[in-house]
Amino acid sequence: MELQKIKIGSHVSMKGKDMFLNSAREAASYDADIFMAYTGAPQNSKRKPVEELKVEEGWAYMEAHGLSQVIIHAPYLINLANTVKDEIFRSSVEFLDSEIRRAEALRSPVMILHPGSHVGAGSEAGIRQLCEGLNQVIRPDMKLVIALETMAGKGGEIGRRFEELEKIISCLNHPEKVKVCFDTCHVHDSGYDLVNSADQVLKEFETVVGKNMIAVFHMNDSKNERGSAKDRHENYGFGKIGFEALQHIMYHPDYLDVPKILESPWVKSEDGKKEFPPYKEEIISIRTNCFDPMMVEKLRTGNNTIYS
Ligand code: FE
Ligand code: FE
Ligand code: ZN
Repeated sequence: MELQKIKIGSHVSMKGKDMFLNSAREAASYDADIFMAYTGAPQNSKRKPVEELKVEEGWAYMEAHGLSQVIIHAPYLINLANTVKDEIFRSSVEFLDSEIRRAEALRSPVMILHPGSHVGAGSEAGIRQLCEGLNQVIRPDMKLVIALETMAGKGGEIGRRFEELEKIISCLNHPEKVKVCFDTCHVHDSGYDLVNSADQVLKEFETVVGKNMIAVFHMNDSKNERGSAKDRHENYGFGKIGFEALQHIMYHPDYLDVPKILESPWVKSEDGKKEFPPYKEEIISIRTNCFDPMMVEKLRTGNNTIYS
């Protein structure tokens, strides 16, 4: 395989007093080209005002360190598909609107959003509610696109089939403002065969949802068998999808320009007291197209000097 230039990065945190500047520093420590962050803890809605995020300092640092893009992920607690509790729907609409404004201030071209859960009401009702919510939030002058993430299908998750994503997008007032985040672990867990026929799956996606509709990839391996509907990520190449199939998508000529984000689990030390980010090592193996079956073990034992 002749290796082309790709845009690869990982999930990083945004916290402390330096916030976005911290995120940029973390991404640079992994030698990434881009990165993804939440604007605060993904599980809650406590957020700092934009003025305290250190946006300008972060971007200056990015430019000095070859980081070309930041991508923001909306928090999990947003559920626009909830028809059961009106206050959850309403607070989700409000919070997503404020998150979009923060992401615009951070100059993210994309806001990744989980379609949500129908919480027992059935996917049809959930999709209707989700469209209603998105229509309330999407502004024609928005400086980013919302990327609906493909989901594994656990619980009442909407978005496990490409047809569901198409259904959501087709009922929007501004469909041009919405694209997709293609998460390889989720797509595999929901039943699509990325191991043996990734090209066919991507073709199917294009047929159902459309060409140029993938705004970003989450390049995750999976701990579980295809169709397990579990959603448990594995380190790059160490799971049931495997290095070869992931690299095939990573360097797919039709998607070279699409940003690729790693959300691999951190590796725990033997005694379980420490955790190490695997991203620097994973990015090396991706860029060199060289899988090291000992990588996770080396990180676990703190014996990864081969990379430093
Ligand atoms: Fe996600
Ligand atoms: Fe993801
Ligand atoms: Zn996941």
